Amino acid sequence: MHFDTVKQQEQAYLMPTYGRFPAALVSGKGATAVDTEGKTYIDFTAGIGVNALGYCDPDWTKAVAEQAATLQHISNLYYSPVMTQLAERLCKASGFSRVFFGNSGAEANECAIKLARKYGTQTRGEACNQIITLNNSFHGRTVTTLAATGQDAFHQHFTPFTEGFSYADTNMESVRATANAATCAVLIELVQGEGGVCPLEPAFVQELAAFCKERDILLMVDEVQTGIGRTGKLFCFEHYAIQPDVVTSAKGLGGGLPIGACLCTERLGNVMNAGMHGSTFGGNPVVCAGALAVLDKVLRPGFLEDVVEKGAYLRGRLEAMDAIEEVRGMGMMLGAVLKKDNAKAVAAACVPNGLLVLTAKTLLRFLPPLTITKEEIDQGLAILQRTISDL
Ligand SMILES: *Cc1c(COP(=O)(O)O)cnc(C)c1O
Repeated sequence: MHFDTVKQQEQAYLMPTYGRFPAALVSGKGATAVDTEGKTYIDFTAGIGVNALGYCDPDWTKAVAEQAATLQHISNLYYSPVMTQLAERLCKASGFSRVFFGNSGAEANECAIKLARKYGTQTRGEACNQIITLNNSFHGRTVTTLAATGQDAFHQHFTPFTEGFSYADTNMESVRATANAATCAVLIELVQGEGGVCPLEPAFVQELAAFCKERDILLMVDEVQTGIGRTGKLFCFEHYAIQPDVVTSAKGLGGGLPIGACLCTERLGNVMNAGMHGSTFGGNPVVCAGALAVLDKVLRPGFLEDVVEKGAYLRGRLEAMDAIEEVRGMGMMLGAVLKKDNAKAVAAACVPNGLLVLTAKTLLRFLPPLTITKEEIDQGLAILQRTISDL
C-alpha cells in the first residue's frame, strides 16, 4: 500500500485527532524505521519514548511472540505467572513494594489519584481529597488526568472536569500557598516532558519531599516518560535523592506494548482493596512478557551507564551546533531551544530528509531508543544539521 492510499483512508475513517508527519511507517530495526515507499529514517523519537529497545529487538520480539503463541490473555480473576514475575522484578529493581498494572500512562496516574484520595480520606477524614500538581505539567488525556494537567489549554471543551486539583508553580512558596489541610498528595513530573523538557531543581524537589513527609502528604512522581532508563537511572527520582510514596510508569516499560504501572511503598500497599480498582487488559501476559524483556536488558550491568554516556554525547553534539541556543533534559530525554525558534518547521523538514524528531512546546525534542548507537546518533545529527542549514 502506498502513502497516498493510507492518507486517504486516514482522512476518510479516523477521527482527526492528530496532526501527522507525512510518512506511513511499516517496519523497523533498531533505530531505523522504514515507510510504505521503502524509505528509511533514523528515529530520534522511539514512538514518544516507548520503544526503549528500538524497533523489534530480537529478545523482546521472541518473548512477545512466544507468549502470544502460548497464552494471549486471561482475566484478572485468575493468577498469572508472567504478571507476578514482572511485579516482583519491577518492585525489587525500584525498591517499591507493590504495583497495579493498567494499560497506559493516564491509567497509571488514575490509579495513583484514586490511591491518594483513598489514603487521604481514610487517614485524615472525608475532606482530605485534594491533589496539588504543577503548572506546565502533563498527566494524560482522560477527563481526570486532563484536570490533573496544569495547563489551561487542556481544560477546554470537555467540561465538567474532575474536581480536586490545584496547581502550584515550581517553587516552595507557591506549593505552601496552595497546600492546606485537605491536601492528600502532590503529583509531579521531575522532568516536565510535554511541557518543554524542563527538569525540576533538585533543591526544590528535596524541599518538597521534606514538606510532604512532615504533613503526611503523598509525594507521587509521574515517571511515565522519565522512567525505565530514559534519564540514565531506572527511575528519574534516583537522581534527586528522594523517596516518593508513589511512582507511575508506562511509555518505555512495555518496549512498544501498552502497559501502565502504579508502584507504591510498603505502607500504602493495602490502601486499595479487592474490588476497588481493576482493568480488563491490565497485566496482560503478552504485554508483561514484553516488559520483562525490557527490564532484562535495561537492568543488565552497564546498560544505564551506556544511556548516560550516549545522552551526554548527543547533548554535547547538539550544544556544539550553531543553530542551537540551549539544550535541556537528562540522559536520553533532551530538548533543544533553537535560535530561530523554528522547531516545528525543522521537525517537519527532517522527515523527507530521513530523520524522525519530536517537538515539545517550542523545543526540538529527542527521545531516541535507549539502544541507539553513536553511529546512528551521528547519522541523525548529520541529517538534522543539513535540514537546519537548508531551511
Ligand atoms: C505520555 C505521558 C502521559 C500519558 O500517557 P498515555 O500512555 O498517553 O496515557 C502521562 N504522563 C506523562 C508524564 C507523559 O509523558
